[in-house]
Amino acid sequence: MTCYDLHSHSTVSDGSLSPEHLVARAIDQGVDVLALTDHDGTEGIIAAQAAAQGTKLSLVTGVEISVTWGSSTIHILGLKVDHKNASLQKGLEKIRDYRKERAVKIAERLEKSGISGAYEGASQYASPVMLGRVHFAKFLVDKGHAKNINDVFKRYLVRNKPGYVSGEWATLAQAVNWINGAGGQAVIAHPARYKMTATKLRRLITEFKELGGVGLEVVSGRQHPEEIKTLAKLANDFNLLASCGSDFHSPDNTWVELGRLPELPSSVNPIWKKW
Ligand code: AMP
Ligand code: MN
Ligand code: MN
Ligand code: MN
Repeated sequence: MTCYDLHSHSTVSDGSLSPEHLVARAIDQGVDVLALTDHDGTEGIIAAQAAAQGTKLSLVTGVEISVTWGSSTIHILGLKVDHKNASLQKGLEKIRDYRKERAVKIAERLEKSGISGAYEGASQYASPVMLGRVHFAKFLVDKGHAKNINDVFKRYLVRNKPGYVSGEWATLAQAVNWINGAGGQAVIAHPARYKMTATKLRRLITEFKELGGVGLEVVSGRQHPEEIKTLAKLANDFNLLASCGSDFHSPDNTWVELGRLPELPSSVNPIWKKW
């Protein structure tokens, strides 16, 4: 059986392994097909491709785009994108510019609650490509403001907490268009994580489909078996292809490992069927 893991992060975004080390670990874990899907950037693809060259692992070029849909932040995966596509890159660059503006605001808010130097501090944990909340979290843990990353998120970096800034990311239409324009396949990442009502999720999927999206991540890391059933049904109801990915970020998260995913239910249409 071919082992697919179509959602993972490297140090280019907020993962803790370099693209090379990520590929090496995926091979160790028995992954046959790995998608590198860093947030809002494809800068790790070339290094990951080089690391996969001559091994049994086949690397899928990917990206995870941050999107604002109504009042929700959602993530759209682009699989098999041409990472050299100019309009995709221009779009991603714009999101990363916004990330810098947001980081300045996060730092200002933290400053008001008595924590100084957060922008520079967080930057030290980030690649030059992307500055995200995980980098702030690492800074805050190291400065002793929280005991671990999870704790920082709860106390500082989510809605109604001192370091929270609501996102202004790409639109759903932009994300899907960039991905399709770059010859890729757009997939709604971890649909069960958005804390949406079932009705709202169906509305998101309807709109996504109308815009040209093709896939739903039916299986993702740290997911309840009941959720897999619900998502498989949704994928079939909407005639969407099913994807699976761990959303691996770091070996420290022992509960999410590369390639350790339940199989896709036999009822769905796997996204790789026509690859
Ligand atoms: P950002 O795109 O910069 O707002 O950061 C989102 C990222 O933060 C996600 O992709 C996760 O890697 C991480 N994240 C979000 N919520 C949590 C949490 N509760 N605990 C740990 N990491 C989280
Ligand atoms: Mn992340
Ligand atoms: Mn995500
Ligand atoms: Mn992810």
